[in-house]
Amino acid sequence: MKKLFCAASAVVLGLVSAPALAAPLDVPAAKAEVAAVLDRDYGQLDALYKDLHAHPELGFQEKRTAAKLAAEMRSLGLEVTEGVGGTGVVAVLKNGAGPSVLVRTELDALPMEEKTGLPYASRAMATWNGKDTFVAHSCGHDVHMAAWIGTARALIASKARWSGTVIFVAQPSEETVNGAKAMLDDGFIKRFGKADYGFALHVGPGLAGQVYYKPGAVSSTSDGLDVVFTGRGGHGSMPASTIDPVMMGSRFVVDVQSVISREKDPAAFGVVTVGSFQAGSAGNIIPDSAHLRGTIRTQDGAVRDKIISGVNRTANAVADMAGAPAPTVTIAPGGKAVINDAELTERTAKVFQAAFGDNAVVQPQAGSASEDYSEFIIAGTPSVYFGIGGFDAKTFADAQKPGAALPVNHSPFFAPVPEPSIRTGVMAMSLAVMNVASK
Ligand SMILES: [Zn+2]
Ligand SMILES: [Zn+2]
Repeated sequence: MKKLFCAASAVVLGLVSAPALAAPLDVPAAKAEVAAVLDRDYGQLDALYKDLHAHPELGFQEKRTAAKLAAEMRSLGLEVTEGVGGTGVVAVLKNGAGPSVLVRTELDALPMEEKTGLPYASRAMATWNGKDTFVAHSCGHDVHMAAWIGTARALIASKARWSGTVIFVAQPSEETVNGAKAMLDDGFIKRFGKADYGFALHVGPGLAGQVYYKPGAVSSTSDGLDVVFTGRGGHGSMPASTIDPVMMGSRFVVDVQSVISREKDPAAFGVVTVGSFQAGSAGNIIPDSAHLRGTIRTQDGAVRDKIISGVNRTANAVADMAGAPAPTVTIAPGGKAVINDAELTERTAKVFQAAFGDNAVVQPQAGSASEDYSEFIIAGTPSVYFGIGGFDAKTFADAQKPGAALPVNHSPFFAPVPEPSIRTGVMAMSLAVMNVASK
């Protein structure tokens, strides 16, 4: 945006509604207060975590989980609304005049079998897309929920230190990247207001006790890709009388990668993956169509446009080469990239550095995964989405050996250590919130 007038005149004109900057946070004192709450309540948070871990639920099925969190927040005295966008929970903590701050957790787990062997491992089952499946918290959303409750406890204990409103949001179905939108479509902003600041965290493949942050993009924009090549079916021994869609699909899978390697700026992030290729029924029949499904991941709008154009051109060129009709190419927009506000990231990083020292780590690059937390901040709410490590030192060291790898999120062996991961989450989130609302 061009600077046409100074910020002060913009405020007078009502064009800028940013809240007044909070007073500097006394980090050592705030840290001591949060630590005292953690010492007092950690046992309860740990028990809550293990209960949620053992009873995971899939997206939009999180009834037990949502009820549990709602009851916890109600017992702490927050105003709780359930059933927002399906199973979403909103718990509002009011503490006088000041900014409103959104703190997001996810409720959902994954349709997969846990193989950690932990005493509190999940054996839960559910139905997903018409099939019975195991369910597991293999993304760590149970760590986030325990930290979410712990943050409410800490902020209540530190009420004298900050002033404002905290909107605690527990969203359904993050893994399908549409639970946040369901809450927004259910009137979230109208009912609970547009937050002045937003925060979310994710446990991941780092050392437990560490906090990771970076300005700018921290996740990718996700677009679904669906391509149908239509050919002419026939006998496998008579290819000349057919138009082979398996050949078209195969060419597409290979050639579309040249969009990534030759058309996209090599320094820019972009991925095209074809994860599903369905065609034919027997080895001696050339089928009449091939159906390919994939995903496109980007962090920048111009790169996204370029890749989508390249995908379309490649699919059409492949069909053209085969003398086939134009293919059907469908791009289904999914979650947008989560962008951390540069100024708020800097302010938050200072607090993390003061509280965690060397355990406050600059994240080198954005993740390629996607996240629909972006929906909550799309209206321009400055926000920071940060990471916390979940691995103990031994697991982390073992994973550095040749041929070994960390059991990262979505692995059946993903097993973040509850302590200190939950403590770190509560400490970082509480300080981040207090920092924008301190008085
Ligand atoms: Zn996940
Ligand atoms: Zn996740």
